[in-house]
Amino acid sequence: MSEPYVIKMPQLSDTMTEGVVVSWEKAIGDEIKRGDIVATVETDKAVMDVEVFRDGFLSGPIAPIDAVVAVTQPIAYLVDTREDVNDSQAGNTAAPAASAPPAATETAATPAAATSAMPGVAPTPRPQGAKASPLARKLAAQQGTDIDRISGSGPGGVVIGKDIQHAPAPFEVAVPGNGRAMKSMEKAISRAMASSISMPTFRMTTHIHLEYLMSAARSAGVSVTVAIARACGLAMTQHPKMNWCYQPDDKLVERSQVDIGMAVAADDGGLVVPILRACESREVSELNNDWKDLLARARSRHLNPEEFTGASFQISNMGMYDVSYFDAVATPGLATILAISSNTDKGSAFTITADHRVVNGADVALFLQTLKSLVQQPADWMGPGGPAIPEGDWDYDVVVIGGGPGGEDCARDLVAHKLKVALVNDSPFPGGECLWRGCIPSKAWRAAADRLRDRAEDVHLGVTGTSKARLVWNDLEAHRRQVLETRGEMALKTDKGVRIDYLQGFGQFVDGHTLAVHTSTNQDDPHSRAALPVGKAGKTISFGCAVVATGAPPFIPPIPGAAEGLASGGVLTSDTVWSLTAPPKKLAVIGAGAIGVEMAQIFQDFGSKVTLLEAQARILAEVEPEIANTLSGILADEPRLDVHTSAAVSKISGEPGAMKLAYTDSEGKKRNLSVEYVIMATGKRPVLDGLNLAAAGVEHARSLITVDGHGRTGVPHIFAVGDVIGGLMLAHTAAQQGRVAAATILGENMRYDQDKDCGVIFSRPQAAFVGVSVEQAKAKGIDAVEVKVPMSIDAKAMINHETHGMIKIVADKATQRVIGVHFLADHADTLIGEAVMMVSGNMTLQQVGEAIHPHPTQTELFGDMARRLLSRLRRSRKTTKA
Ligand code: NAD
Repeated sequence: MSEPYVIKMPQLSDTMTEGVVVSWEKAIGDEIKRGDIVATVETDKAVMDVEVFRDGFLSGPIAPIDAVVAVTQPIAYLVDTREDVNDSQAGNTAAPAASAPPAATETAATPAAATSAMPGVAPTPRPQGAKASPLARKLAAQQGTDIDRISGSGPGGVVIGKDIQHAPAPFEVAVPGNGRAMKSMEKAISRAMASSISMPTFRMTTHIHLEYLMSAARSAGVSVTVAIARACGLAMTQHPKMNWCYQPDDKLVERSQVDIGMAVAADDGGLVVPILRACESREVSELNNDWKDLLARARSRHLNPEEFTGASFQISNMGMYDVSYFDAVATPGLATILAISSNTDKGSAFTITADHRVVNGADVALFLQTLKSLVQQPADWMGPGGPAIPEGDWDYDVVVIGGGPGGEDCARDLVAHKLKVALVNDSPFPGGECLWRGCIPSKAWRAAADRLRDRAEDVHLGVTGTSKARLVWNDLEAHRRQVLETRGEMALKTDKGVRIDYLQGFGQFVDGHTLAVHTSTNQDDPHSRAALPVGKAGKTISFGCAVVATGAPPFIPPIPGAAEGLASGGVLTSDTVWSLTAPPKKLAVIGAGAIGVEMAQIFQDFGSKVTLLEAQARILAEVEPEIANTLSGILADEPRLDVHTSAAVSKISGEPGAMKLAYTDSEGKKRNLSVEYVIMATGKRPVLDGLNLAAAGVEHARSLITVDGHGRTGVPHIFAVGDVIGGLMLAHTAAQQGRVAAATILGENMRYDQDKDCGVIFSRPQAAFVGVSVEQAKAKGIDAVEVKVPMSIDAKAMINHETHGMIKIVADKATQRVIGVHFLADHADTLIGEAVMMVSGNMTLQQVGEAIHPHPTQTELFGDMARRLLSRLRRSRKTTKA
């Protein structure tokens, strides 16, 4: 008879030291074929099959059901013939079989087989200044005993196994009662948790709103926890240290694959932690398929060892149990573990417990910040999350507060999709600043100024008798007002026609789903809104979603005398300049942004003597530097316009019609100026107080409402668009953001991209931009190049005496796509249309160069520039290769 083949308790994971026999799938004496499952055993994490890899007959001594057997110890045997079968049972703890390897070589009393052979556990290091036997070191490692604190009883004070076995367990206290022995899984968890005490951990919490992710997960048909795992995987690609771990002694394991263990309650009450692999690189749908399979088998404890060993990060989600806060225990092998509490008004507490040997506080804080933006903006990586309107019996599906371009475009897109929408606006007509105090009235003035200016050029074309053009202010103003009123009425008619409920009044949040509409406010004074009584209103409406599009009034810097000047009317803003009864003879404009430059030049064209004072070293901070500086030079040549950059205005005084201004020029010289009026064009800043945003839980920072790329505030069903969120405060920007918010509310995936936005400053020549400058591209890490053409070479510019300025195309060298176009040119407001399509359509230089442009038009310049830049890039590539 040959030696029987030993069927051993398999070691199915690194942490497994023993297993429990759960069932015998074959009986003693059964014929076994290679690949048969003979038994199932319970490890520290799951119930596993025991498969044999040879033929034979199942033989005893066989470990009984429920026997606890150390790994590698026999649970049964295979013999060659039925006659050789032994039908006996082993004891409850299987004794080491003859063929089992000796447990240890030391002669000192050894513990039971269950702990004597514990492969995979590295012995503890030698005690300092003393000796220890190999068994003692191994046992110390298994038990977590600090060997340095043990006095040895072996020859010469050597620490031996017995000393470790008899060592008092740290922090052990006498507990009355008869405890039952822990099951193998309970023991494994207990050991892992106890060993976590040796880790220097810290905790950090942030609150993250889960509503977006929940709705995106619902639409995508994936589990929220899997979506969070994917977000963690993505965040770790930016913060890889979160995925590393400490390895004794003083080593770091730098893992790049993010394998996330997620705790699951098994059907029998225990805890199982199946692992989702490669969460950094796999799509959420693929991860979800894996998870469904893992989850079912984890609950019934039928996982393979590789499915629950070797996590690099762990998530414990107690969100469903109404737990407001908890933290998780990081165990050796992990540097970080995430505990997710239930969702509240503030969001859900995401708490990281972290091993300080691997990551520091800033690492964790930055990881949490990235994770927060991923979880709160799932549309960016999961696709759209479905309609944003929460279920409820609301008066309106959406209420839009503010009837400027942002609010109006948003409301119109929403009603086009059959939503019930209220547009709350504190004026009788929609249109906002753009129509009543901004773009449109200023362009009426600009049009008159253009006529006056162009008359001066008529003589070059042989047209005479037109150079004595005269402005009749009252006629211009009557025309301007008529245009505004007509357009205001047209807008209101359209809004009502498309079934927007236009509610005139000032909107103020009562809570997250209720808006008070006040009807008795002073609509001209945004600052009076702060004093509105909360909750008292002409009308109160409930809403599913809200969009705040309330704009931003002019900002008045704290220059002494500025506020008094504003009150008296000697200091004007872009809101109040329309009350002028005639162009002032002398005017000061403070601030050389878009408003300052436009107003200064318009009034100089009207005949005023204008001084433009700018605090910074250059005008038009939003515009490409060469364009702005060239325009500065052109303005300096205007007959009645003085431009002072790096100027510090220190005092404003006087009465309307006789104002005084003290300032220091760029050379530090103190100067005084006497003018009729001062126009303050020093930027715009939202006034938020009257909105009572706190009642709805909407956050803001430095007067700007904080939103993501979809216009969503921190409150998932409340959006904000336009000037009230900062950035480019332009009408078309607000309108686009309004359409983005509408699309998001409707469940589509649309994003505002500032890198594709554009602007035109209505100076002469006009300064305009779309996309980014070389400087801005480089700051984003793009290797950008530009090509430019002076307007002086263009035939039409020569004919019309419009030869000032230039056009520039900026392209990404790597992709040869057009990423910016910048203008200082007359008619830039029309020419920019083609440039907008180039940038928003990601067109290449080749596409622009091959397009057929009509002759004779200035659009030909685009084709010329694209071909020129292409050939330069080709040449430089050849040179580089050579
Ligand atoms: P702005 O922020 O563009 O410019 C304000 C300028 O005032 C800045 O250059 C700033 O340095 C300067 N300034 C601030 N305090 C000063 C002080 N104490 N003394 C001297 N200078 C000071 O703002 P704006 O021109 O008032 O326009 C407001 C917004 O409206 C901007 O976003 C602008 O782009 C937009 N706008 C655009 C257009 C257009 O595109 N055609 C027209 C009008 C307004």
